[in-house]
Amino acid sequence: MELKRRTFFKWGLTGAALSLIKPSQAAQMVTSTFETKINGPIVISTWVHGLEANKAAWEILSKGGKALDAVEKAARVTEADITNRSVGIGGRPDRDGHLTLDACIMDEQSRCGSVAFLEGIDHPVSVARRVMEKTQHVMLVGEGAYQFAIEQGFKKVKTPLPEVKEDWKKWKKENKDLFKKPEINHENHDTIGIIAMDANGDLSGSCTTSGWAYKLHGRVGDSPIIGAGLFVDNEVGAACVTGLGEAIIKVAGSHTVVELMRHGMTPQEACKAAVERIISKNKDMTGLQCGFIALDKKGNVGAYSVFNGFNYAKRTNTEEGMVDALFDRKW
Ligand code: ASP
Repeated sequence: MELKRRTFFKWGLTGAALSLIKPSQAAQMVTSTFETKINGPIVISTWVHGLEANKAAWEILSKGGKALDAVEKAARVTEADITNRSVGIGGRPDRDGHLTLDACIMDEQSRCGSVAFLEGIDHPVSVARRVMEKTQHVMLVGEGAYQFAIEQGFKKVKTPLPEVKEDWKKWKKENKDLFKKPEINHENHDTIGIIAMDANGDLSGSCTTSGWAYKLHGRVGDSPIIGAGLFVDNEVGAACVTGLGEAIIKVAGSHTVVELMRHGMTPQEACKAAVERIISKNKDMTGLQCGFIALDKKGNVGAYSVFNGFNYAKRTNTEEGMVDALFDRKW
């Protein structure tokens, strides 16, 4: 199913920036603030592809399963969607025509695993989990990550997809300035980051992307970097982010959000503060879209982005749908 962020039909408006869809009779009005304390499991994911991802996570969370399993399964759904041009094997390649994928995962014990610059493997999030569970390391990159994946039984896949390759060829003809900042559009800001709390109150997160479309060969963004694209601290909360990876790495974005929550901020306040820090460090606002989502131990949720247009999918026992994030500025 191809879901387009901009054309996604929203119903069930319940507050200034809220657009939650009621899943069933069980659905209830949510408050007009993002700080909604919930009992029971919760999963939130960046962008509209998060709806399908959350659905997969919910199959695990609703049965009392672990947040770790839920965030891996959810990420795999988006990775398997070949119509998605910014996650998994349907993603856009780098400047030289190679599709290189980045992903990471982190659990309630602060165990984490990550792969970056990985080519020819369709489920980088699962390779990241194997790195976490089967090795002494946190991060494997490039050829080493590929060899490890093959040793672990993952199959080689041919990438990029033929139609994506055609787009890349056209792009190459039209674009001579290979160092220019990207335009902010669906090609470069649709990473999926997922954070969940299970019925046991344990937190985990995952993040997976093909990164900045037509990036330089070898470029790695924030998404596979623990503390930048994703961070989980089971005593405090979890955060993940989508957007211009270079800006996010510079402020250790997701770790910053979790640390601010540790020091007393709500998830909403912490996401806003992280966005403000990004803005304060960047004079050039070109391409500077970044959108954070965060969850604390009580199930409070927050989100904030540099520019308008960022949203996330939320699922609890009583809610299922998209929520528009608050933002610092309009286009
Ligand atoms: N954060 C990703 C990266 O920089 C891309 C995105 O989320 O749009 O690779």
